[in-house]
Amino acid sequence: MPVPRRYVTDAIVLSRFDLGEADRVLTLITPQHGKLKAIAKGIRRPTSRLGGSLEPFAELRVALARGRTFDVVTEVHVGHAWLALRDRLESAATAWYLAELADRSLEERHEAEPQYALLHRAYELLDAGMAPGRVARWYEMHLADELGQRPEVDRCVECDRMLEATEAFRWVPPLGGVLCGRCPGPPAERAGLSLDALKLLKAYQRLDIEAIASLRLSEETEREVEAAMREFMRIALERDPRSLAFLDEVRARPGARPATV
Ligand SMILES: [Zn+2]
Repeated sequence: MPVPRRYVTDAIVLSRFDLGEADRVLTLITPQHGKLKAIAKGIRRPTSRLGGSLEPFAELRVALARGRTFDVVTEVHVGHAWLALRDRLESAATAWYLAELADRSLEERHEAEPQYALLHRAYELLDAGMAPGRVARWYEMHLADELGQRPEVDRCVECDRMLEATEAFRWVPPLGGVLCGRCPGPPAERAGLSLDALKLLKAYQRLDIEAIASLRLSEETEREVEAAMREFMRIALERDPRSLAFLDEVRARPGARPATV
């Protein structure tokens, strides 16, 4: 689809960096134009009309003009400001992590309607106060699906046999999911996956998020699935998300409050 010289789109800020004296370059996710970079000229001056509205963790309505290197932001309105999300440090750190996953997984200027809807929903859930870990796992699982890399949790990734509750499993992200007890795994030292963790991985694929929110889970199972999905995303995206270090730091300090996000 050819992009007109001026256009208006919904957008969520994924990342940003300052440029020169007063400009800022933003990476946006939009439904129709996918990921794109745009420049907000003069935004760091106190008199800027664009002011503080071009922030992450909000759904924005943005007017853009085609530019040579970056498109230029000419107007911004805030559609949804997910303010409660920003008030809790772990929610905000999780929101950064989800934004980074979206950023890493999208190509510029490719339609990204499902990925946009997914991030939008995840931010709504964080804003509504849902446990950040469950929102993150739900998002990872569905993003992997959108990338065509849905983790295999029903059949063995090697022999294709249906997994049985009584056998031992291993989680092998480079192979795309779970390896059964009978198959010789390439990495013999790889830790097993518990049956509870396997059930929870299945739940993230099958249940809607409201049902997942109401599950009673042991912390141990949640941690196991967290480690499993983080590893899966790291392999799928071929790198370590940088925001994870921050998220882990935040969680290590319970009760910490954000200064600014
Ligand atoms: Zn097998």
